[in-house]
Amino acid sequence: MREIRFEQEPEPVDGKGRNTELGIVTYTFVFLFLLMVGYLTYLNVFKASELNSNAYNTKQDANTDKYIRGSIVSADGNVLAQTQVADDGTETRVYPYANVFAHAIGYSSNGKAGLEAACNYDLLDSHASVLSQLQKEDENEKTLGDSVVVTLNTTLQNAAYQALGGYNGAVVALEPKTGKILAMVSKPDYDPNAIEEIWESVVTDSSSSVLLNRATQGLYPPGSTFKILTTLAFIRQQPVAYKTFDFTCNSQLTVDDVTINCYNGNAHGEENLEGAFTHSCNTAFAQIGLDLDNADFRSMCEEFLFNKSLPTTMQHSTSQFALTADSSYGEQMTTAIGQGDTLVTPLHMALITATVANGGIMMKPYMVDHIEASDGTMVSKNSPSKYKRLMTTEEAKILTGYMKETVLSGTASALNGYSFSAAGKTGSAEYGANGVEGTHSWFVGFSNVDDPDLVVAVIAEDGGTGSQTAVPIAAQVFQAYYSVKGIS
Ligand SMILES: [Zn+2]
Repeated sequence: MREIRFEQEPEPVDGKGRNTELGIVTYTFVFLFLLMVGYLTYLNVFKASELNSNAYNTKQDANTDKYIRGSIVSADGNVLAQTQVADDGTETRVYPYANVFAHAIGYSSNGKAGLEAACNYDLLDSHASVLSQLQKEDENEKTLGDSVVVTLNTTLQNAAYQALGGYNGAVVALEPKTGKILAMVSKPDYDPNAIEEIWESVVTDSSSSVLLNRATQGLYPPGSTFKILTTLAFIRQQPVAYKTFDFTCNSQLTVDDVTINCYNGNAHGEENLEGAFTHSCNTAFAQIGLDLDNADFRSMCEEFLFNKSLPTTMQHSTSQFALTADSSYGEQMTTAIGQGDTLVTPLHMALITATVANGGIMMKPYMVDHIEASDGTMVSKNSPSKYKRLMTTEEAKILTGYMKETVLSGTASALNGYSFSAAGKTGSAEYGANGVEGTHSWFVGFSNVDDPDLVVAVIAEDGGTGSQTAVPIAAQVFQAYYSVKGIS
């Protein structure tokens, strides 16, 4: 029986205004999230016709007279989307995996989304031989468009989809060395086969925002997963002092009317930096936040692509880091523990983790492996591409050590005891507004610590602590990955 230890997080905001700072910022998360959902709904509902009728898309639509929309195929050779042509020539877009790949693959009518939108040009083009195209024309038939072969793996995607279960949220699994995305799940989901029938209900239901790809567009408070970056900032700003960091946690820290609590009122006692990290001690990290230079912390986080676009053409939201040189002590403390006004997408959190796993180099994430013509001719192939070195190998090694210890003896110990080694960080991100409050469950980490091969990021909305929910979900994805590796 594996021991499960719970994440250390602040107590819920009390009603007496003691944690007003935290209260205000959590309202802000919800507001921003709703604003974003509203905007996407606006884009989908009101802008769809405009987007469809711009010159580029009109040109593409003209190609539908000539070409049958090509297929989308998984890395392991399974059809994820294809067009079936009836005897009378009626074309139907079919998604054999229905809801499982909904957000990653998207849909090709009602405004287009996901890879169907991103690869629209390729799917409605053909590089089949001129002779075969002419033959088709002679027979008065259309040529099948090029196929898009993606990096997603059906075994891993199915596992991630099942593991997330009934939670809303997202799972991203990618290779840290290449940036290849092997699984991308978002819930709530929908059946793209039925997009036209369900359209009216999904676009009017703004409360659950079913069409939103939470993996790339969901903005969440990172909670304690953000302590990876807080730790890095501290190591950089205090390259000597961090080694002798010594803090005695008595379960809470109050500065300027803002109180930061450790989870369940736990007092962690005396701890060094690794101990504070592995047990996710909020008060120790609040103290670290007070010790950091805000402007330097901000510029480091912006190097890690907060307030900036990610290096991908995939549609995504911009993560936010709000701390400035003038921010209050309260903001410093809450930001250091991943609350504050910080918001992040699951994909971004996966990339930060992959940077640690890859010895400090962030690779550009990608989901299209190659394009091939219907006769099998290779049209174009993507290869792994480096974005940037964002930390030294030594820094990556220190963080890896802390994340490994978090699995061995800290909040991610539910990942112990498998055939693979793992390193990671949990998070329990609080939110609350209009009397509704809860905790999102986070985990980010990687497997095969000495030679990392897979990064998994999980967020389960209202899942409670990271230890309770997100870690076991990630464990299932890692297990599936090794089952695939075993077969191949
Ligand atoms: Zn503590």
